[in-house]
Amino acid sequence: MKKYILALDEGTTSTRAILFDRAGGIVSTAQREFPSQYPQPGWVEQDAQEIYAAQYATLTESLVRCGAEMQEVAAIGITNQRETVVVWDRHTGKPLCPAIVWQCRRTADLCRKLEEDGLAPMIADKTGLRPDAYFSATKLAWILDHVDGARAAAEAGDALFGTIDTWLLWKLSGGVLHKTDATNASRTMLYNIHTQDWDEDLLKLFHIPRAMLPQVCPSGSFFGDVHILGTTVPVCAMAGDQQAALFGQGCFAPGEGKNTYGTGCFLLVNCGTQAVQSKSGMLTTVAATLTGEDPQYALEGSVFVGGAVIQWLRDAMGLITEARDSAYFASKVKDNEGVYLVPAFTGLGAPHWDMYARGTLVGMTRASGRNHIIRAALESIAYQTEDILQAISADAGMEMRDLKVDGGASANDLLMQFQADISHVRVIRPASAEATARGAAYLAGLSCGFWQSREDLPLMADSKSYSPVMEESERSRLLDGWHRAVRAARAWAEE
Ligand code: ADP
Repeated sequence: MKKYILALDEGTTSTRAILFDRAGGIVSTAQREFPSQYPQPGWVEQDAQEIYAAQYATLTESLVRCGAEMQEVAAIGITNQRETVVVWDRHTGKPLCPAIVWQCRRTADLCRKLEEDGLAPMIADKTGLRPDAYFSATKLAWILDHVDGARAAAEAGDALFGTIDTWLLWKLSGGVLHKTDATNASRTMLYNIHTQDWDEDLLKLFHIPRAMLPQVCPSGSFFGDVHILGTTVPVCAMAGDQQAALFGQGCFAPGEGKNTYGTGCFLLVNCGTQAVQSKSGMLTTVAATLTGEDPQYALEGSVFVGGAVIQWLRDAMGLITEARDSAYFASKVKDNEGVYLVPAFTGLGAPHWDMYARGTLVGMTRASGRNHIIRAALESIAYQTEDILQAISADAGMEMRDLKVDGGASANDLLMQFQADISHVRVIRPASAEATARGAAYLAGLSCGFWQSREDLPLMADSKSYSPVMEESERSRLLDGWHRAVRAARAWAEE
């Protein structure tokens, strides 16, 4: 009898492998951080080979650590940072160039041209997205246009495109399986979320040869067998990290939503089978489903720099040595004392969508110091989330009373209490913050029969909830300051 489901969770800052048992318990975890490169202002790259190496190392480590055997694993589920583009040679398996990471802004001008050419409504109708450098299409077009030999190889069928899920599956299968799932495809800006297929008009617009694109499958389905450590194991799920987290948090019904505080912040609300079009800067995206089910959709608000602002305090500014120390230093001041940090390091995502805005620190006085900056950085994560909650309530005509949270920075109690206060919601953190990996495991387990139905899933218990205590006048004063700071960050870019 198989005992485990193995989830591979390939994030932006680190990659993990987590072994789940039938009761939903985490039996073993292995994790490795890997670096990004910033070769020019606004550019972000990663080494796809290094990502695979880190993922493979965590896979074996997670088994060895707890003495589990690959034969005991019923299925693998893969979840991944979305939109990031890898192009590789199908014969040698080598990437043609560094992976262009979702945060990379190098194609901002191309996206502005799409807007100026009036193509935004057509793109939104087909893909649920807006022309932004965030999505894969312009990154892939950039590689074909700028990397020596890339276009010729793509046209000859020698170069393949994939987001990270596809790249990992191709590598794990020894170059046999070239597939993606509908949630990852829906973030490329090349995929029609209504017909659920690559869109011919968009492929023409971006000059992308169809032959280089992977086959699209439902998130919970049999992707194929891979041979690992002398054993054959089926890969039974692939899903973008945010859709996986929505599933892992058990948000199966319309109106249920979650916010993940990872590198970025991603708030998704389940819309059922309705592809709701946003009027407030949200994206319409495909939610994870199992083979045979009708397509499901979600509204999404994407914030580019969430937990990453804390990483920046640590790595670039040297203001803290560990991310978790941010709560301690922030609690040393009674409030932000007028200091706001808008972490628009790679532009602003939802609901502002300003590719040119840049990081801005305002409101400093002679009395302001390190603790204020740390506090302002933490608060910026909550303010950005609040902007999304406002936009979603405008779109869907509903107030969210409860916000389920997960991701690395959701461990921060000060941030979670501030979120509850500033958004006037109850913030609920589950006992395990690994909702993303759990979602991939649930999808894989359901699709291979390890669990029989959604009702059969061992959903997580809540560990802690935070209720709002802030006075309304204080809340509106702080929000007012935040919105002025955002205006400052955008005005700077306009000059
Ligand atoms: P990803 O899956 O995008 O790689 P994670 O969910 O692992 O991200 O979260 C990592 C991010 O969370 C990092 O950017 C880190 O700075 C931030 N983070 C981790 N712990 C804390 C904490 N206690 N307080 C604030 N931010 C944190």
